[in-house]
Amino acid sequence: MDASTSAQVLPGGVLEVRTHGRKGRSLYTTRHVKGGEIVLNEAPLLLLVAPEMAQATCAACLRAVGTPDCITCSGCHQACFCSPACQQTAQATPWLHSAPICSAYSRLAALGLAEEEQGQLRFLLHALALRHAGTPEAESRFKALSGLVGEAMEAERAVAARLAPALAEALQGVGAGGSLLAAALDLEALARLLRKEQLNSYGVLASRQQAAAAAAAGQQQRQQRAGGEGRGGGRATTASGGGGGAAGGGAGEGDEDGERRLRGSALYAQASLINHECLPNVARFDFFDALRPDAGSTHVTFRALHDLPPGTELAQSYVPLHWSLQERQAQCREVYGFDCTCPRCQTESQWSDEEEEGEENEWETDSGDGGDMETDAAAGEEAAGEEAGGDDGEVEMQDAQPPIVAPPGEEGPLEPTYLRLFLLKYMCSAPGCFGTAAPPKPGSTVLECNVCGRARSEKEFLRELERNMQPQQQQQRERQEQQQQRQQGAGRSGSARR
Ligand SMILES: [Zn+2]
Ligand SMILES: [Zn+2]
Ligand SMILES: [Zn+2]
Ligand SMILES: [Zn+2]
Repeated sequence: MDASTSAQVLPGGVLEVRTHGRKGRSLYTTRHVKGGEIVLNEAPLLLLVAPEMAQATCAACLRAVGTPDCITCSGCHQACFCSPACQQTAQATPWLHSAPICSAYSRLAALGLAEEEQGQLRFLLHALALRHAGTPEAESRFKALSGLVGEAMEAERAVAARLAPALAEALQGVGAGGSLLAAALDLEALARLLRKEQLNSYGVLASRQQAAAAAAAGQQQRQQRAGGEGRGGGRATTASGGGGGAAGGGAGEGDEDGERRLRGSALYAQASLINHECLPNVARFDFFDALRPDAGSTHVTFRALHDLPPGTELAQSYVPLHWSLQERQAQCREVYGFDCTCPRCQTESQWSDEEEEGEENEWETDSGDGGDMETDAAAGEEAAGEEAGGDDGEVEMQDAQPPIVAPPGEEGPLEPTYLRLFLLKYMCSAPGCFGTAAPPKPGSTVLECNVCGRARSEKEFLRELERNMQPQQQQQRERQEQQQQRQQGAGRSGSARR
């Protein structure tokens, strides 16, 4: 259907790249994949530490480091390392923390820029370092970076123009600086890089300790709302250390509404080909804080949530699963530049059309199955009855929104019950987490959260499901009883009972 002619099988043979008519390059399974199976495990092209986490995150491997253990760069005092080995690696690698990058960091720090601009400038520095390092590895990394989707738009051109003087200033006096300086002034190239970063980078969650330290330090400014799955610009990230045997997982469990702090971001060549759907079929796991320091702790891993037949397009959610239809639509449009027409959005846009009560947290409250809600009073009671799911300033549904329809040849709306069950099953139920859960290995009936690391057995899930279904059955029973009473003409007080 979304057939394409030029399928390119990725190493490992599980996935191939095909071109989807509307979405562009996408990843598809080449064979049957079992739930819990790793479909992709990939090293990063580039890792970046968020400026505000620079004293608590290794500039080479993005590991969270506590203050006593961290080795601060004596050159710029703007970066730190988790170990002497990482320090050596970083200094010896042109695109990590080599002498030119270190000196540019120093100069940037002196400019007293806002953290967002610092971050963008640092990204540009590292990208330019890749481009000009002159080694085959740097060259292939830069080629992959250039191959990521994203062309410059007006917004990025404006940002590039604003940042270029600071970038040139940062590169003053950098050895071999001639070509770098020239590159720093190529605004179109800078704008393109910024766009690629926005569209493709994955945010990496702060560890629990990092988040707590940042909170204690009174950092009021928030990272963009970042969730369990998203990517960098707004896409957030996954857990660190949740897997890989690291006990407990180090995820930055955000604030109650799922806001999360980021320690940095990462760009991956193949993972960036996984397109968005609001009901994902893969979940992303990372291991930056894994106990074993070497062996792929910076790799990103995608695991199938459930069995995937051959020819299935991989789908991840760039936003947390609990976001409302409107929040998801806005994020997709504003950050990623597309309108989400996925089956979940189609389904929920019908709800908002038919039911005017706040249904954003449809799966959290137990409101009836669209259709059997009788009166507004009943709906209000339901919403008030179950523990209030939407504890943050959720946007009210506006009925102005037209129903979302499937693009020609693509999947239509879902069965509402399926959608509700899916979210109950694959969205972490730990309070305030909202991560995505996948089996830790093929055949396992346990589901492991990619944000907090919580593992939930099938038995626990069924118990939660039962608890979740109860109010609905109770309501049905009450309605039947009321009906019986009416039929018996024994009107009594007639008030609804709980
Ligand atoms: Zn390190
Ligand atoms: Zn330095
Ligand atoms: Zn959607
Ligand atoms: Zn969780």
